[in-house]
Amino acid sequence: MHSIFAAVALFMAPVPALVSYANTEPPRPGHPDRAVPILPARVARAIDSKDARADVDKLVSFGTRHTLSDTESATRGIGAARAWIKAEFEAIAGASGGRMEVFLDEHEVPPDRAGSPASRTPNGAGIVNVVAVLRGTSEAAMGKGSGRRYYVVGHYDSRNGDGMDAAGDAPGANDDASGTAVVIECARALAAHPLESTVVFMCTAGEEQGLFGARLHAEQAAADGLPILGVLSCDIVGDPGAPSPEHATPHARGLVRVFSEGVPRNAGAAEMASIRGLAAESDSPSRQLARFVAEVAKWHDLPVKPTLVFRPDRFLRGGDHSAFNEATQKQDVYPRYAWAGWKGYPAVRFTELDEDYSRQHQNIGEETGPDGAQRRTGDVPEYVDAEYVADVARLNAAALVHLANGPTPPVNVRIVTAELTNSTTLRWDASPESDVAGYELVWRATTAPEWEGGVDLGIALQATVDYNKDDWFFGVRAYDHEGYRSPVVFPVAARE
Ligand SMILES: [Zn+2]
Repeated sequence: MHSIFAAVALFMAPVPALVSYANTEPPRPGHPDRAVPILPARVARAIDSKDARADVDKLVSFGTRHTLSDTESATRGIGAARAWIKAEFEAIAGASGGRMEVFLDEHEVPPDRAGSPASRTPNGAGIVNVVAVLRGTSEAAMGKGSGRRYYVVGHYDSRNGDGMDAAGDAPGANDDASGTAVVIECARALAAHPLESTVVFMCTAGEEQGLFGARLHAEQAAADGLPILGVLSCDIVGDPGAPSPEHATPHARGLVRVFSEGVPRNAGAAEMASIRGLAAESDSPSRQLARFVAEVAKWHDLPVKPTLVFRPDRFLRGGDHSAFNEATQKQDVYPRYAWAGWKGYPAVRFTELDEDYSRQHQNIGEETGPDGAQRRTGDVPEYVDAEYVADVARLNAAALVHLANGPTPPVNVRIVTAELTNSTTLRWDASPESDVAGYELVWRATTAPEWEGGVDLGIALQATVDYNKDDWFFGVRAYDHEGYRSPVVFPVAARE
């Protein structure tokens, strides 16, 4: 897939792109003007909140989707729920021109022989994820399983007040029929559009019992060497309303929290030393992914925008993104994209602001509302705002189009530290796609959360800026002829 542009880039590698700034002023703020592609916004607009509403109501109609619930009934329990999700994916696949494959991803969790009292699968469990894979056009050219892939994930299992109650009602409308609806609506919106990279739509089971579906899938993907470059996990994305006025965040309806890990769970001492030496504790691939999703929302002025949270997850709670973060790569395929010894997959979590914990993991009950009327308690569908679910789906779908159609992030990005200088030189390897049109250098203050400025380098594999590498964070990303950008790559230090 090496194109004329990649070849020119390699040829031009020794020629530095010199960008000069006065040392007394901070680098120029703002990013290069670039026409934003229109497909992500078109795809986002195609998402209909009526479909999201129907998804949530249908999932609730199965009574419970507890992982250990009935798998035989056609109308109640997790078996009926996954049969419906699979049929929905299969109907959607009809619009994909044969590019979408739908299957059940089945795993076995063995009985917990240690008899841990905390185990939520003491007798073992069958875990079945429902997966739709939309094969990218680059994969069609290079062979099945060869291309980078991006995931959108929601868990379709549910629970009530008792994590082991497999029979009682557990509607799980917000947790996580809402995220499952996002996955299904992203599939519906994207199926008809040929995208360059593969996009995987996955509804997981066993999340409430211990992230089993995501964990077993991610570990298998790591063992198979699948290059997963981004996972968007949507969990509790249906009810932005605050539980009480005292806890209301202004503008919560227009925001969704995006959580990302800073330091990796599975880093050894050498990786931790590298991260510390680079001051890279806020520049993991997951955090770059989170920043990228925030940029997508701004580029298209989408109705729900991320508010970035720089921590892996909320206190006392977990989610499927962590299972991807914690997977350990076992083969040589992934290091092409690896960064500073990172072994897990880049993955982030979407969750509404102002969660109402009195509705999550609860049995259905009744209470008197502030207006004096009786109302239900528990995770019931009347508290899910379908338009908000659709807006979160719009953000995810637009981000997936950008990720899948954008260039591969540049690899082997280095900040040159051969000798003590007051300027900064970066070098990197070309992205492999044929439509790469150039690279951008981005920067931010070491205390700033998001990239503050950037400059267009054109086709170049090296840049020198008259700014001190000690005082700023720098990164590099690729862009293509259509205006798609890759996420930013944070450099490692190289004495060259
Ligand atoms: Zn959940």
